[in-house]
Amino acid sequence: MRLMPPPIDSKLPRVGTTIFTVMSRLAAEHGAINLSQGFPDFDPPERLLDLASQHMRKGGAGNQYAPMAGLPGLRHAIAAKVAEYYGRTVDPEDEITVTSGGTEALFCAIQAIVRAGDEVILLDPAYDSYEPAVELAGGRAVHVPLQRPGFGIDWQRLGDSISPRTRLLVVNFPHNPSGATLAAADLEQLAERLRGTGIFVLADEVYEHMLFDGRRHQSLLWHAELAARSFVVSSFGKTCHATGWKVGYCIAPSPLTQEFRKVHQFVQFVVATPLQAAIADFMRSCPEHARELPDFYQRKRDHFAGLLARTRLRFEPAHSTYFQLVDYSAVSDLPDTEFARLLTTRHGVAAIPISVFSADTAAKNERIVRFCFAKHEATLEAAAARLRVL
Ligand code: PMP
Ligand code: GLN
Repeated sequence: MRLMPPPIDSKLPRVGTTIFTVMSRLAAEHGAINLSQGFPDFDPPERLLDLASQHMRKGGAGNQYAPMAGLPGLRHAIAAKVAEYYGRTVDPEDEITVTSGGTEALFCAIQAIVRAGDEVILLDPAYDSYEPAVELAGGRAVHVPLQRPGFGIDWQRLGDSISPRTRLLVVNFPHNPSGATLAAADLEQLAERLRGTGIFVLADEVYEHMLFDGRRHQSLLWHAELAARSFVVSSFGKTCHATGWKVGYCIAPSPLTQEFRKVHQFVQFVVATPLQAAIADFMRSCPEHARELPDFYQRKRDHFAGLLARTRLRFEPAHSTYFQLVDYSAVSDLPDTEFARLLTTRHGVAAIPISVFSADTAAKNERIVRFCFAKHEATLEAAAARLRVL
């Protein structure tokens, strides 16, 4: 007889398997071209791979635990980058923590700050890891839809959603999945709304180096008032074409970093030492990599847009990220979750339905899916050939 565990009163009863895993699995099962989950189908820079293997083979402490907050060399390289890109001096000792990807940083920031009964404002469509982290902390997500078209912040609704229980606001610009970006005036608006409140901000800026057509990333680190109440998260997975390395970081003022590290040390403790060492060396010796990233991805966006223009899908070329939203209402009236499934199983191209990132029912009526264009030209061309028959 099979013994059953005691009944589980789930802590996350409404959470299933993340859409990224579901769609990548479906793509693999059906041999579809996978433009769903966001990851490149090309390798990280050769120099970075060489550095990683050199650090692994160096032996000694290089393959043992790193310091809990991250290798000092990497934290210094991050501080230098932040000074160069966003004009802010951050202390590598007390204000930067290296994490296991952006995901761990987001989780730790939320656990460090959110208490039972607190409200956390999420801007929908919201990346799927935020709300479960809020719920595990005993908090409640308050969903504020981004405005259509354009996916900008609806300042009126955001203002209306702030209550005495609001503890944290999560913002994600450049925005996944829409590619919306912030303007400098948005930082001012945000600072104004939060002035005099005790609300913290979690800024998910993992696509900080992928803005197109001359747009400049408005990091919250630019703005002294916002930086003073924010956790700013980024990911080398995006910047180095190495999503499988899972190395990211969180920047926050010292008192916030102290709380952050109390959680980080027991969730992850430390991040893979040779990968940190390789990234630190790479940042120092190849600063042009990050500088060239916008052009690199803009070329991919433009190539993909040219291909999509010959389909019946409608779209506005993405302003940022490596995602392209497309409106498929001219080819199907199926809800996006069903359409994404059909596209994968029947047409051989996997996409992400975006309604799963929104709480409101209006989003369920949109006919939009997301493609990832962080792919070789040949991959995009093969996918587009299949999309042309729709
Ligand atoms: N935030 C957003 C908006 C993302 O799209 C992703 C992932 N791709 C992450 C966080 C997580 O980053 P990582 O893979 O470094 O954990
Ligand atoms: N962030 C990636 C995306 O949006 C996927 C990350 C994941 O699979 N968790 O596609």
